[in-house]
Amino acid sequence: MNAPAPSSSRAPVLEVFSSVQGEGAFVGEAQVFVRLAGCPLRCGWCDTPGSWLVRETPARISGTDGEREEEPWASPFQVLTWILATEPREPRTISLTGGEPLLWPGFVRGLARVKGPRRLHLETAGAHPESLASVLDGVDHVSLDLKLPDDLREPVPVEVEGPEGEQPWGEATPASASDWELARRRCLTLVADHDACGKLIVAGGRAAREFLPLLEDVARLAPNLPVVLQPVTPTAGVGAPDQDLLTELLEDARDLGLAARVVPQVHKALGIP
Ligand code: SF4
Repeated sequence: MNAPAPSSSRAPVLEVFSSVQGEGAFVGEAQVFVRLAGCPLRCGWCDTPGSWLVRETPARISGTDGEREEEPWASPFQVLTWILATEPREPRTISLTGGEPLLWPGFVRGLARVKGPRRLHLETAGAHPESLASVLDGVDHVSLDLKLPDDLREPVPVEVEGPEGEQPWGEATPASASDWELARRRCLTLVADHDACGKLIVAGGRAAREFLPLLEDVARLAPNLPVVLQPVTPTAGVGAPDQDLLTELLEDARDLGLAARVVPQVHKALGIP
């Protein structure tokens, strides 16, 4: 199998802003968020559908001296200047999110080189293990989604509206339950010895047994990975899980020897970006 073509070191930026991390292992920490455009997945509970497409929409930079718009296609160094303009005081950990940042591994590697003293945290759907392998050395923490295939609609290839020659990483996106199983297992193997957490989004109406294969894969391939069970914040007709489901999932994780905890989306509760 041929490797995907190397991706550009530039990426389409949607927004750069300072806020409080609302999810995962670093919940509550002051961070700078760099959100990239482009995602081929279609999670039923996605709360950032505006990040799916790559358009020529200006990037929104929320600097300490006010908000401004910039050209969306940016190099890692350009983004570093936006981060500097956004940090209120000392350098903050960067949360690189999307969309799916692993569509732009050349940019991720570039940002790792220029970020200075900041930690670089990657938020990923866990659909592109080859891309993850290529950036892992430069990333200080990986927040890896553990996707339930039934939560996903058909993937949609990302088409770029923008400068000629700029294309996302060409690695195939999982489209079936067996594709997802393969991608999940490869990603878990990659992060097993890395600073990382697994994030399992729990929607209402699901049964605990549906999540068991995911938890069993963690227990087998990355047994030290902290697991965050994140109840869905009700959106687009998808409801929150009830307490019984969360309790059962926690006990299933504990039975497998995993360190799991329930963490709702704190930024949603606080009404901040
Ligand atoms: S991977 Fe993230 S951005 Fe993409 S559809 Fe799912 S929740 Fe939305």
